[in-house]
Amino acid sequence: MATMNIEHLKIIRTGGSVEDRAQTIRDHLRDAIVDRRLAPAAKLSESEVGALFNVSRTIARAALQMLAFEGLVRIERNRGAFVANPSPEEARQVFASRRLMEPGIAAVACERATARDIEAFRVQLGEEARFIGQRGPAARRAEIKASGDFHLLLASVAGNAILLRFMEELIARSSLVIALYGKSGASSCGHSEHVDILDALEARDVPRMNNLMIRHLDHLEADLDLRLKEGLGLKEALNLPG
Ligand SMILES: [Zn+2]
Repeated sequence: MATMNIEHLKIIRTGGSVEDRAQTIRDHLRDAIVDRRLAPAAKLSESEVGALFNVSRTIARAALQMLAFEGLVRIERNRGAFVANPSPEEARQVFASRRLMEPGIAAVACERATARDIEAFRVQLGEEARFIGQRGPAARRAEIKASGDFHLLLASVAGNAILLRFMEELIARSSLVIALYGKSGASSCGHSEHVDILDALEARDVPRMNNLMIRHLDHLEADLDLRLKEGLGLKEALNLPG
């Protein structure tokens, strides 16, 4: 929580409706979760969130409920809210959903992309390339975020606001899954595959775009190690109380 930006706290203090303020807090917490500044399963206390943002517990609770609805926070009765800790099965379902949605999004984007959109993709790929080969958790987080942004840009070019919202949720969940289960050192999203997808988009080659997207999502999932964490946690294995 120490990384929260004081400038934004001031903005929240100066007003906005209850919904707006809850939304702003939700945005900050979401970024912190997706960027792994808040660890999976970390406790998110309403009073602490409220104090940090200088809002009532009611507003803090509304923000946490928004995140719970998106699958990034888990709320347990009598225990409070925690950063989600997706199971291997949930991880598989996230990628199964993406395989159903993204080839369709790619096809629509192929029809609608303008020259300016293509330029925006080039800028995005440049951003991604900056983090490749860099070591350390900060570079890894930045790389996961940049590679997710490529997929969100495709959804935004497809021009369907409802699909874009679905994709925002799926990409946020994917980032959490990749951060949890990604094999260390492996790229979160093959950069060269994004380049190929962009080439197909520019050529407006829908079948090639579909193939590339499915293969890309397969590779992403194959890069996860969903076996390691499938067993019981240490605490459960030792049968400790609480
Ligand atoms: Zn990708």
